[in-house]
Amino acid sequence: MAVYRNEVSHEWERRDLLRRWRAGAVTRAEICDADFLLVTAATHHGRPADRPCPVCGGDDLRVVRWIHGEQLGRMSGTARSDEEIDRIVATGKEATVHTVEVCPRCRWNHLLTAVTATAS
Ligand SMILES: [Zn+2]
Repeated sequence: MAVYRNEVSHEWERRDLLRRWRAGAVTRAEICDADFLLVTAATHHGRPADRPCPVCGGDDLRVVRWIHGEQLGRMSGTARSDEEIDRIVATGKEATVHTVEVCPRCRWNHLLTAVTATAS
């Protein structure tokens, strides 16, 4: 099992952005900008979020994890399941894991947390 440490929450930025959107300071097009790759990764590698989309209210909001790191080679910058991350760090590699919320319906997306994953 991967061990996660140094978690950085981006919840405050998320709430602040949504607050500014509701106030009309930013447009929906500006905050709903998930590209095709991100939506596809969320659909195929993500899991359902346990809450509705904060922008469109849709119930197909997804949470997907991306891994980054110099030790990962070509795997850096790819979407991975929890089980895959366990296997990757079990080989001794360290990964930075970004958990991203993505709505396939309106293309809202935001980073939720960044965390370091290692084998122990
Ligand atoms: Zn949405």
